[in-house]
Amino acid sequence: AAAATAALTLAACGGGAQPEGEGEGGGAATGGVGVILPDTVSSVRWEQFDRPYLEDAFEAAGIEYDIQNAEGDAQRMQTIADQMITSGISVLALVNLDSDSAATIQQSAEQAGVQTIDYDRLTLGGSAEYYVSFDNVVVGEEQGRGLQQCLGEGDANIVYLNGAPTDNNATLFSQGAHSVLDAVENYEVVAEQAVPEWDNQQAATIFDQMWTEEGGEIDGVVAANDGLANAVISVLERNGAAGDVPVTGQDATVEGLQHILAGDQCMTVYKPAHLEAQALADLVIALLNGEEAETTTTVRDETGGRDVPAVLLDPIAIFQDNVSQVVDDGVVSAEELCEGE
Ligand code: BGC
Repeated sequence: AAAATAALTLAACGGGAQPEGEGEGGGAATGGVGVILPDTVSSVRWEQFDRPYLEDAFEAAGIEYDIQNAEGDAQRMQTIADQMITSGISVLALVNLDSDSAATIQQSAEQAGVQTIDYDRLTLGGSAEYYVSFDNVVVGEEQGRGLQQCLGEGDANIVYLNGAPTDNNATLFSQGAHSVLDAVENYEVVAEQAVPEWDNQQAATIFDQMWTEEGGEIDGVVAANDGLANAVISVLERNGAAGDVPVTGQDATVEGLQHILAGDQCMTVYKPAHLEAQALADLVIALLNGEEAETTTTVRDETGGRDVPAVLLDPIAIFQDNVSQVVDDGVVSAEELCEGE
């Protein structure tokens, strides 16, 4: 296995674009946009992908911006939002930590004449003008199809590690995966659990318990993102089963792609962050100019009883044979994939 891994790794190391240079930090954003990212631990994507691509997109569009991170604390998100509103932003985009706290923030923004956009996660019962994300049901379907491809059609015990129950996306991912896997007759779901706050440590504990309870009779794992997948793989490693049990993922992180190349992870779902960042910048421009933005669809918010105009992008399934696509896009460099292991 080591030799095959080396060959694949070297193939991926053959070349490719360098990652984009990071933009300058923002600053006060009078008349511009404020963006609040959720945390730094549920996924590396927010700081590693979204922030630099958002900076690039806003700079290219000549929009004043201020990007901050709530560090997993809803109270802190509220405080940041209040400061941004006071500083004079015109548009506030946020990735919510939970719908209730974000709906409250959006309400106070609205009262101050600041328009809001939901970035990546829909705020149920919120008041955002627009929602920009990927088609999150399709993300789950790709995970389901991916796991099926890695497992084959034989009998299989499957477990699900879903994302945070407070994240509407996590519900959609699980829905999508179920819609594919529930239709396969020989598969049986033997355990399913949501991981609070997408916490990777808790994910390892939860999967460890599943493994013990099932006596190691687990054949495939739907892990909602690469962080959860990494937690699962670390438990599989301790039990000498890494590489034998396909695990899904999401975000096309360096760690996830390395696990795929090593044969320890079945697949990941790549969601080009530069496209999501650009879509947000386009919506912000429209709002700043008082124009109607171009959207691709509407998304139903049952809690709020409304249809939110949305831009939903297409996710891409990544397996061993197309890891190079992420490298070619310049999101990760071949060097990064080859470093460490
Ligand atoms: C995002 C994923 C991310 C997860 C944890 C979800 O809402 O869509 O890309 O991995 O949150 O941050």
